Amino acid sequence: MTAAPAGPRAVPLDKRPVTALKGVGTALAEKLLKLGVESVQDLLFLLPARYEDRTKVVPIGALRSGDRAVVEGEVELAEVVFRRRRQLLVRIRDGTGFLTLRFFYFTSAQQAQLVRGVRLRLYGEARRGTLGLEIAHPEYRRADAFDAQRVEDSLTPVYPTTEGVQQGRLRILTAQALEAIDYGALADYLPAGLLAELGLPTLVEALTYVHRPPPGADVELLASGRHPAQRRLAFEELLAHQLSLRLLRQEIRRDPAYPIAPPGRLLARLRSGLPFALTGAQERVLDEISADLASSSPMLRLVQGDVGSGKTVVAAAAACKAIEAGFQVALMAPTELLAEQHWQNFDRWFRPLEQPVALLTGKLASKARRSAQEALASGDVSIAVGTHALFQEGVNFRRLALLIVDEQHRFGVDQRMALRNKGKHAGRYPHQLVMTATPIPRTLAMTAYADLDVSVIDELPPGRTPVRTVALTETRRQEVVQRIDTAIRDGRQAYWVCPLIEESEELDYQAAEATHAALKAALPGVRVGLLHGRLKGPEKERTMAAFKRHDLDLLVATTVIEVGVDVPNATLMVIENAERMGLAQLHQLRGRVGRGAAESTCVLLYKAGMSALARERLNVMRETNDGFRIARRDLELRGPGELLGTRQTGLLTMRVAELGRDADLLPRVQSAAEVLLAEHPATIGALLRRWIGGRERYGKV
Ligand code: ADP
Ligand code: MG
Repeated sequence: MTAAPAGPRAVPLDKRPVTALKGVGTALAEKLLKLGVESVQDLLFLLPARYEDRTKVVPIGALRSGDRAVVEGEVELAEVVFRRRRQLLVRIRDGTGFLTLRFFYFTSAQQAQLVRGVRLRLYGEARRGTLGLEIAHPEYRRADAFDAQRVEDSLTPVYPTTEGVQQGRLRILTAQALEAIDYGALADYLPAGLLAELGLPTLVEALTYVHRPPPGADVELLASGRHPAQRRLAFEELLAHQLSLRLLRQEIRRDPAYPIAPPGRLLARLRSGLPFALTGAQERVLDEISADLASSSPMLRLVQGDVGSGKTVVAAAAACKAIEAGFQVALMAPTELLAEQHWQNFDRWFRPLEQPVALLTGKLASKARRSAQEALASGDVSIAVGTHALFQEGVNFRRLALLIVDEQHRFGVDQRMALRNKGKHAGRYPHQLVMTATPIPRTLAMTAYADLDVSVIDELPPGRTPVRTVALTETRRQEVVQRIDTAIRDGRQAYWVCPLIEESEELDYQAAEATHAALKAALPGVRVGLLHGRLKGPEKERTMAAFKRHDLDLLVATTVIEVGVDVPNATLMVIENAERMGLAQLHQLRGRVGRGAAESTCVLLYKAGMSALARERLNVMRETNDGFRIARRDLELRGPGELLGTRQTGLLTMRVAELGRDADLLPRVQSAAEVLLAEHPATIGALLRRWIGGRERYGKV
């Protein structure tokens, strides 16, 4: 190194490499890169995972089990003992009490140092042990009388570490980075007026606080992530994510699409063939979709609707418009089972309209696949239903203009983008309609799906009787089997959902087989089918079709039936090990019954000794059938990560913000995003680079 680093004013921190800091060479810079740290600014946005309070010496007498604290005292006794293993026990005393230090690993130098009369300053976590309070392997040093008063002058941050970068090193580096902040070196993108209104500190204040909280800082508040300094950072992070999705949306809107606005004759024929009229909510959502389709920029609309709210027929109605206008439509489902069922519905609705529907799944025989592919490529067939296989190589559409994706929570932003590019044709992009049965509260939806417009079917078709839900311990299995018998004698059908055994498809399937055998034995004369992930496509199809035709009375299944399966005559649902399932999954499963006019029951079987959280989930299920309410409770109980599915959005890998905890910030985040887009577009790129880097930026800046 020859040239001295440029003056702080000259080089803003986001442009200053970490190697500009003292003691950072290329080797350390490489390790820091693993933490996502390249610039001095990155280092400031590497935030502590927790804090230790080393700002005061705690009298031993005030120490409680579980406390992490600085203690000072004099060695009273030190001895090597054998209690199962060789260990060094050191008793220290400070006038208020005594404490035992326990070392399982120690050197002879340590042994020589830790002798009666030596004063120690130490830090560690106190635990109640056989000898009273003890600390295993504390950090310690000799305490000289004259530095007895010297302690840390702020809480000690504990950073997320990586191999080869010690905490001590990170503390030294962040201290340097904090010192490097001065006017102009670190841009504050939030207008002062907004901060004042929200009662939040400036960026520099916030960063200084979270890296070095002053003595007396509320450690519990910090641990909960609700300190104003943290909220200020969370706000900015949420804003960055919001902007990235909004930019993506703007980019998509700029692309051309085929405007679709036919007179509506095909839709009128579809309607007249239906045994029901659309609900008001279905009509409203269809209007919203129709307006989008008529535009020459691509629709990107999410339809949220509770299980059974009738999303499929809305999709079919949208398809009618595209087909009448001379285009093709693809409907994609996450599983084969669901794709087949959609195909059946579409086939039933579109056959009378002389519109054949192609089915494309991975399990299709090559001959059938080839003929489906040919029909789509030539344009002879206008509707294709399938799984991901719809977008594999070799599948070409002649004039695809509408892409419908069902059960959207399984598809992430990147997958949506890939599909959109696949559907590109003659320079035009397809309209996209995504449907989800995992409703989430509106502000959350507007954040998580900021690249989409959102419609809500908030009404169930008339004549549905709410499902009655009971929770029983599994010791009452026998009674439940009786209930099944009764329901089946009444001409009804039932589901029995077997526990999902995590991490083992094999065990999963064995459990389902065993339950199937046991129920068959317990219910002679009852026609029992078995459905699990291991079955081959045609076999699965046959079983499902038989259940639909009522050639089977009872269907034993793993959670493969979670989404979409629709058999209105099924009125009883038994879910085993319900205590292990999440709310969204339970609600989806329960949604398989209550699809007809007859009263349905859902029995949640649980094992004794479940957690408070599991008990709370079962209570929520008993109290309500409303998917939106359940989603809100789910959000409170678990946070949004699981609710949205793991690959939903980049939102799940946020550093400070948490959608559930920080939900109250979201409306202001949205309005701030609008202000930035309209008035300060030049700062957006830098803001995104600060928080998101190159990782999950979908829109171009
Ligand atoms: P989901 O929204 O869960 O996908 P489906 O589309 O499977 O729901 O619809 C559930 C059931 O309700 C289906 O049997 C469907 O035919 C029926 N259905 C849909 N809309 C109506 C309506 N307006 N009136 C009566 N039944 C309807
Ligand atoms: Mg559905």
